[in-house]
Amino acid sequence: MALHALAYCERLFYLEEVEEIRVADASVYAGRTLHEEIRQDEEERAGEQVSLELSSEHLGLVGRFDSLRHHDGALIPYEHKRGKPRRDGKTPSAWPSDALQVTAYGMLLEEATGQTVREGRVRYHGENITVRVPLDELARKAVLNAVDRARELRASSDRPPVSANDRLCIRCSLAPVCLPEEERLASDPSWEPIRLFPPDRETKTIHVTRHGATVSRAGDTLRVATGKEDVREFPVHDVGAVILHGYPQITTQALHFCARNEIGVHWLSAGGRYVTGIASGTGTVQRRLRQYKALSDESTCLDIARKLVMAKVENLLRYILRATREEGRDIPEIASAIEVLRQSLKRAAHAENLNSLRGHEGVTGRAYFGALSSLIRKDVPESMRFNGRNRRPPRDRFNALLGFGYALLYQNVLQAILAVGLEPSLGFFHTPRSSAHPLVLDVMELFRLPLWDIVLLGSVNRMQWDAEADFQVTKNHVWLSDAGRKKAIELFEKRLEETWKHPVVSYSLSYARLVELEVRLLEKEWSGRPGLFARMRLR
Ligand code: SF4
Repeated sequence: MALHALAYCERLFYLEEVEEIRVADASVYAGRTLHEEIRQDEEERAGEQVSLELSSEHLGLVGRFDSLRHHDGALIPYEHKRGKPRRDGKTPSAWPSDALQVTAYGMLLEEATGQTVREGRVRYHGENITVRVPLDELARKAVLNAVDRARELRASSDRPPVSANDRLCIRCSLAPVCLPEEERLASDPSWEPIRLFPPDRETKTIHVTRHGATVSRAGDTLRVATGKEDVREFPVHDVGAVILHGYPQITTQALHFCARNEIGVHWLSAGGRYVTGIASGTGTVQRRLRQYKALSDESTCLDIARKLVMAKVENLLRYILRATREEGRDIPEIASAIEVLRQSLKRAAHAENLNSLRGHEGVTGRAYFGALSSLIRKDVPESMRFNGRNRRPPRDRFNALLGFGYALLYQNVLQAILAVGLEPSLGFFHTPRSSAHPLVLDVMELFRLPLWDIVLLGSVNRMQWDAEADFQVTKNHVWLSDAGRKKAIELFEKRLEETWKHPVVSYSLSYARLVELEVRLLEKEWSGRPGLFARMRLR
C-alpha cells in the first residue's frame, strides 16, 4: 500500500507513512469493503482462514495481498481495485502504482516459496477486467528503486511538494489535509483553486450542561443520561467533541472510547472558563519538529505575527466602519477608535520586533473595547450594557457572555490545532503567561470578532437576553445560568454552521471548517507554501 501511495504521489506517501495521517473517505471505505469481500471469498474457496501476509527483510517489504492463483503450475498474485484500468488506445493496462504493488507481492512470494513468479494480475472491478503485469527486470528494478526512495523520504523531515499532476488530487483522500490547490494558489496568484476542502464539519459537538448528567459508552454510541427518563444516544461517527460544562460525569469507558475514536473531551468550569481537555490529534514528530524549528526563529515569528495582527486590526476597523455606516462615527469613542486602528495598521506593518507588535495590538484592543459600548443600541437596558472589559471573574453580564464565548472558541481552536498535529503550547505571538496554550491564543485572535463578538453584539442589540433568568449574579461575579449557557451555546454553534466565502481561496465554507483551514494554512507558513495564513478579511 505504501509503495502504491509512493507511485501515486510522493507527498501522499510522506503524509501517510511518515506523518501518519490517514483520512478514510467514502472511497477508502469502499476499497476496504472490497478487500474484505475478496478475503472472505478466498477463505470460502480454501475452506479455511488464509493469511496472505508475507515479509522480507532482504527486500525491505511487508505485504498482504488479496489473492493467489495457480495457473499451469505457476503462482500468480492478484490485486483487486475498484476503479478502471488505464487505457492507451484500446488496450487496458495496469496503472503504474498498481503494477508496482502487484510486482512487490510477486517478489515477496518468490522469496517465500523459492518459485519464480512471472506475472501478477490486477482485477479492475469498475470494468470487470483483469490485466496482466509481467514481472520482468524493469518491473523488479522499479520496486527496488521505490523502496530506496521510500527510505530516503522516511529519513527526511521535509514534506515533498504537491504533485505536478493536479488531476491526481481530485481523487486523493488526503486532499483536505494536503491542500494542494491552496498551495498552487500560494505560488501562483492567478491559479483558480477548485474546492477539495470539505465545506462543513461532518461531526457535531455534544455540550453537556446539566449538573448530575453522565456520559457513558453503549456499544458504538455515546450515551448522555440526565435521569432515567432523559437518555440520549449519539453514534460515534456523528460526534467530534464532548464538552462538559460544570460538573457532569464521564465514565472511564467513555473516555477510552472517545480517545480511540479521536473525539475530543473538554471541561469548562461552571463559570464558563476553559479548564482542560483531551483530544488525540494525528500529531507526529516531524510536524512538531518543523514547528519547533520555525517558531524558535524570532524573524519567522515576527513575520507570522505581523500577518495575524494586521488581519485582526483590519477586521476590527472594517467591522466598526460597517457598524457605524449610517450613524455613530461622530461619537468621540468611535471616531477615536477608528483613528487608532488606522494608525495601528500602518505601524504594525513596520513593527521591528514582537514587543512593538504586541504594543500595537494592545493599543488596538483598548481602542476597540473603548468603542464597543457605543455599538450597543441605546434602548438596551443598563444591565446588559458593556462598560469595559473585566474577567476572572466577570463582574457584569456582558463580560460573562464575552468570556464564555471565548472559552468555547478556545476549545474549537485547540481541537483544530491538535487535529492538524501541531503543538498548542508553542506559539509565535502570545507569551506563555497563563495555563492557556499560546498557539491557541494566537489563532483565536483571528476569530474572536467573527465567531463571537459580532454574534454577541447582535444578540444584545436584538434584546435576546433575559437579565434575570439567563444569569447568576452575586456580589463578586456574574455567571451564566443553565438557561443562559444554553442560549449562548446555541448561538455559538449556529455561528459555526454558518458559511462564509473566503476572499482568497474563493470558496465558501462553514466557520467551523474555516478555523481548521486557517490552522492548516498556518502550518504551511513553515512547511510548504507560506502566504495564505491570516488573509481572511471581513467584507
Ligand atoms: S492531494 Fe495531490 S499533492 Fe496532495 S497528497 Fe494527494 S495527490 Fe499528492
